[in-house]
Amino acid sequence: MAEQVVVEHFVAGAAFAGASTRTAPVYDPALGVVTKQVRLASTEDVAGAVKAAHDAFGVWSAMSLARRVAIVFKFRELLDAKKGELAEIITSEHGKVLSDALGEITRGQEVVEFACGLPHLLKGDFSFNASSDVDVYSLRQPLGVVGIISPFNFPAMVPMWFFPVAIAAGNTVVLKPSEKDPSAALWIAQLWKEAGLPDGVFNVVHGDKEAVDALLTNPDVKSISFVGSTPIARYVYETGAKAGKRVQALGGAKNHMLVLPDADLELVADSAINAGFGSAGERCMAISVVVAVEPIGDALVEAIKAKMADIKVGDGRRSCDMGPLVTKAHRDKVAGYLDIAHKDGATVVVDGRDVVPDGDKAGFWLGPSLVDNVPTTSAVYQDEIFGPVLSIVRVKTYEEGVALINSGVYGNGTAIFTNDGGAARKFVVDIEAGMVGVNVPIPVPVAHFSFGGWKHSLFGDSRAHGEEGFRFFTQQKVVTSRWLDPSHGGLNLGFPQN
Ligand code: NAD
Repeated sequence: MAEQVVVEHFVAGAAFAGASTRTAPVYDPALGVVTKQVRLASTEDVAGAVKAAHDAFGVWSAMSLARRVAIVFKFRELLDAKKGELAEIITSEHGKVLSDALGEITRGQEVVEFACGLPHLLKGDFSFNASSDVDVYSLRQPLGVVGIISPFNFPAMVPMWFFPVAIAAGNTVVLKPSEKDPSAALWIAQLWKEAGLPDGVFNVVHGDKEAVDALLTNPDVKSISFVGSTPIARYVYETGAKAGKRVQALGGAKNHMLVLPDADLELVADSAINAGFGSAGERCMAISVVVAVEPIGDALVEAIKAKMADIKVGDGRRSCDMGPLVTKAHRDKVAGYLDIAHKDGATVVVDGRDVVPDGDKAGFWLGPSLVDNVPTTSAVYQDEIFGPVLSIVRVKTYEEGVALINSGVYGNGTAIFTNDGGAARKFVVDIEAGMVGVNVPIPVPVAHFSFGGWKHSLFGDSRAHGEEGFRFFTQQKVVTSRWLDPSHGGLNLGFPQN
């Protein structure tokens, strides 16, 4: 048997094996086989990466804005030219179809393009003669070494929510990607090198809890940007904050789509399917619950069921709509919710376990599943399933629907489908979520706005990218200056008044 590829860390501009001998398997989910082993860093390995980033900080943070822009711009050009390669890597480790992998890179690239505006975004304020002969100005300075910890479901886009802004602002980065699909981060590291980024500005360490804990407690790491499930996000937020770091920790979600009786049911059915089953439901902005305001429930379920028959499940490298789930364990966990649905009295309208995929038998397959009349007490309703299981809940009124959505612990994304502008406008105000769609099922903000949810979907007060991103990755300094003038001598123990 051929020896398996080992996915190494990337530190100070080169592959780095580290001292740890621990590894984890990386699968090709459509083939159901282990294709690589990824290194799992020890605390000392992480310290080595942080040191490399720390050593690079002085030069990078002092580099002129013009030279920094040129490098970020070059990275954007290379990414745009070569993103097909990255998409293939993502599909081979995550399983999502190639077009979807390309889509996530394009959304990440938008953040790189936004970060190219760094000279404008880092501009401070200047107040001339704020007091007599006294000028006051503010500047934004980078934090130093920043840590980024990302989930498996967007191996390119989620890290790109953070590192273009962090690097543009003059910080140096240690990225710990998900150990389930680690290779995208390495490809990105090589691309930065090709773009001319100095060695040590962008580093990658692979690992599990040990690597995360090492980043959370290393005194040279000044901030943590985390994305993952809610229990880990809360842990990261609390541990990082206790260690004195600035932390933004984006957590899980359970996104609802409220459908009013006047909505166009064909449009709603298409949107529910696209948002429920795209990327096999492994998206933090996936719609997992459709809340139908009666009397449209039966007609909507029929419309969704009819269209689901056209979804082609299979190997993401073939022309399919939906790929496998990321691991066998995750596939089995998600499939288990269909048993729970039966037990809790819901109606399983379409059971994804019956799927016939266009792919290898050993792949981690689960077809799109539709569950109607889901009791809100059931784990099918309450848990973040993170797979292709779409629930339908029926309510009698708009108010009942909004109260149901607002009673949940998550507040990531939500959407309303209606032709009534007044109802939509009221929903935007009433609903407790960070990102709201009006006839748009996955309302992911464009890069110059910020991405982030409410409640248990975000711990910390800073969201990703947009101006908030630049604020997170910089600290402000306000300078009050007066150039010496003999007329300003003399004692005065009070505040200057004029
Ligand atoms: P996860 O929480 O299992 O892992 C996320 C990161 O945490 C990974 O890098 C992982 O190695 C690390 N990790 C895992 N266990 C840990 C532990 N015990 N201690 C410290 N670190 C640990 O999440 P996942 O399964 O990779 O991704 C799916 C989750 O991410 C879903 O809950 C999804 O909603 C969420 N997500 C949220 C957003 C958002 O914007 N809010 C975006 C994408 C994904």
